[in-house]
Amino acid sequence: MKVFKFGGASVKDAEAVKNVKEILSRYSGEPLCVVISAMGKTTNALEKLTEAWVNQDMVALELLGQLEEYHNSIAGSLIENGSKPLQSIFIELRKLLQVAPPEIHDAAYDSIVSFGELLSTALVSAYLNEQNMPNRLLDARRLVITDESYRNGRIQWEETTRKIVNAFTGEELSQNNLITITQGFIGSSLNGHPVTLGREGSDFSAAVFAYALDAQEMIIWKDVPGVLNADPRFFNDTVKLDQITYRDAIELAYFGASVIHPKTIQPLQNKSIPLYVKSFENPDEPGTVINNSAENHKQVPCYIFKPNQVLLSISAKDFSFIAEDGLHNIFGLLSHMGIRINLMQNSAISFSICIDDNPAKLHRVLTALGGDFSVKYNQGLELITIRYYNQKTIDKVVNKRKILLEQKSRLTVQLVVEGEKSGKKSKV
Ligand code: ADP
Ligand code: ASP
Ligand code: MG
Repeated sequence: MKVFKFGGASVKDAEAVKNVKEILSRYSGEPLCVVISAMGKTTNALEKLTEAWVNQDMVALELLGQLEEYHNSIAGSLIENGSKPLQSIFIELRKLLQVAPPEIHDAAYDSIVSFGELLSTALVSAYLNEQNMPNRLLDARRLVITDESYRNGRIQWEETTRKIVNAFTGEELSQNNLITITQGFIGSSLNGHPVTLGREGSDFSAAVFAYALDAQEMIIWKDVPGVLNADPRFFNDTVKLDQITYRDAIELAYFGASVIHPKTIQPLQNKSIPLYVKSFENPDEPGTVINNSAENHKQVPCYIFKPNQVLLSISAKDFSFIAEDGLHNIFGLLSHMGIRINLMQNSAISFSICIDDNPAKLHRVLTALGGDFSVKYNQGLELITIRYYNQKTIDKVVNKRKILLEQKSRLTVQLVVEGEKSGKKSKV
């Protein structure tokens, strides 16, 4: 069994969906589990729809109309019956919008936002069936079981594995039904409430299926040739990494290389399932393989840029040391507010953290910490991470800007520098 994942960009319009079929046809005769995300920017649109719903704003109807138009127009150019496969899903969504949203905002979010993947998979599945590529459509909400941490569901591994294995054994899978289509990003709690796995979570969903099915390999099809040594949106002359270890992939994803969702690697590593990142535009190209082998492993410097950072310097008001109990309070507050620390460092009397600059959250952090601590902060910063660094690579990307904080380990350096990046950076 191979597990494939197609992201939003790979199903964003009718041409893209045709290309998915073309890729699948290369694997004819092989059992495939195909995990698909919402089309294009649908999840962003559904987030807006959720806000309109919880605020009981009439704009919800307009947003729903736009979503319908977008999906129906793609369906119309691909499928004989046009929008038919989508009708019942839109009826369900429309019905949901007519009732009062649940009190828990994040539960409301998950119940609406999960429709993106339901629509894309219904459309792709119907199209492939009509194109003589028989497949079955499985509802991931029945298979991927999570706790009730809405918007960040934690997988209940035993239950999930059991359900996935059941769905893929016995009569369910016949010779003419080798392709299974299912949704990324969504699952449900044991109580049957829809739960999403966090933005960009479809890569992780695919890894959950690969793990449960003991897949031979997993391939994520992207709009890039593979894992590059930097995001091509921020860096000129990127190089493709032909092979990287699970360890490197986890580190890169953790530091913010958005090409792979950070949770994806661990389930694959646990079962030594190789992960390929390949281009959906050039499926013949080898892409990148992520596995345990150190054979072709080159230590190419990799860069991760996080703009729009704020550095907080926290000290006790009486200039005492910030010891374990102080840190305990600070971490408690940040965790409670859902703030992720991108970098931290402490000195005798101050503790510094670098976080994403979100004005509303920053205000809340400053107010919450302001009781016991005095807090200074700098905005407009960039956090640069370089794995496999040397001084030349640092000098190049810092480009004479002021470094406010620097942290080095043997393989990785992280730098908080003044000023946003100006334009794309060039090769070192
Ligand atoms: P999907 O369609 O699967 O959701 P994403 O847009 O989430 O795809 O991921 C692909 C994008 O990730 C690329 O277009 C690229 O801009 C970005 N990216 C960030 N870091 C890297 C990297 N190191 N290598 C390749 N792409 C990267
Ligand atoms: N559709 C979801 C998102 O846009 C999940 C994913 O694409 O991975 O975040
Ligand atoms: Mg994505």
